Amino acid sequence: MSNVAFIGLGNMGSGMCANLAKAGHSVKAFDLSPQAIEQAINSGATGAESIADCVAQAEYVITMLPAGKHVHSVYFDQDGITSHALKSAVLIDCSTIAVSEARDIATQAAALGYAVVDAPVSGGVAAANAGTLTFMVGGSDSAFAQIEGLLGNMGQNIFHAGISGNGQAAKTANNMLLGISMIATSEAFNLAEKLGLSAEKFFEISSKASGQCWSMTSYCPAPGPVPTSPANNDYTAGFAVAMMLKDLKLAQDAGQSVDAATPLGQQATEIYQDLDNAGLTGKDFSVVMQQIKGEL
Ligand code: NAD
Repeated sequence: MSNVAFIGLGNMGSGMCANLAKAGHSVKAFDLSPQAIEQAINSGATGAESIADCVAQAEYVITMLPAGKHVHSVYFDQDGITSHALKSAVLIDCSTIAVSEARDIATQAAALGYAVVDAPVSGGVAAANAGTLTFMVGGSDSAFAQIEGLLGNMGQNIFHAGISGNGQAAKTANNMLLGISMIATSEAFNLAEKLGLSAEKFFEISSKASGQCWSMTSYCPAPGPVPTSPANNDYTAGFAVAMMLKDLKLAQDAGQSVDAATPLGQQATEIYQDLDNAGLTGKDFSVVMQQIKGEL
């Protein structure tokens, strides 16, 4: 069992931290929010008073923070990780950030003597709590070999995507596809309904035909066919519009940086920006169904 530092105990980090403690690791937890630290203590971790205190003995330092600027500051500020962690520690950033930011952070940390991997996740809060996340890892073969078992305590599928930043590259392309497919699925259900099919009948047919996709079969944006989907719970997130918009913007920036055409990704970004502007920021991203139906 290992000494693990965990920084960022929000919606995702709290469940991940709890699963590491449950697996028997000695976990020291830090967040800006004292309540989040309290919750981590209740789930088996030890609370830390500062980043320095959190990382001092750690073999692994995991961060799960909102965005790239937070990761940069937690890594490199005067009182940050790289001022206090053991040089032998492996630094694992699970936040969703830009590919370029992940690569910059890895280079900067390597210059200070640290091995860093980007390890963003897919699966959302339910999977974080259940320990069934999918991890997409960018970093060296040796770093991946060191952390694979640890990530296995928080997830079900652990992929080595390649060099630093490749984990974020896989995540950004995947989530762009998800944003587009959610809009496409909503358009298809709306069209079918206007042409006279119930949501249940269209689901029965299309889920066994070539239009089948995750947005339909696991997370159907039309109320009815998939009882666990947010559509049946007033589009309560789930995965919020704000999160999808953030990920689509990351994909747009990444696409521009390598001259990859993403016209549908661009349109999806505009559609989610409209939802955000309309005040639906905190609703589940499948609420796009209501906009397409003209119900908003
Ligand atoms: P969150 O806002 O709930 O949690 C972030 C936590 O980081 C908060 O508790 C905050 O207090 C803490 N924090 C911020 N700055 C800090 C600092 N300087 N020092 C210590 N703690 C600090 O966010 P979340 O939903 O847990 O998401 C975290 C990351 O995971 C994001 O990058 C997000 O894009 C990604 N993600 C989220 C989901 C999801 O469904 N929520 C799914 C996949 C990936």
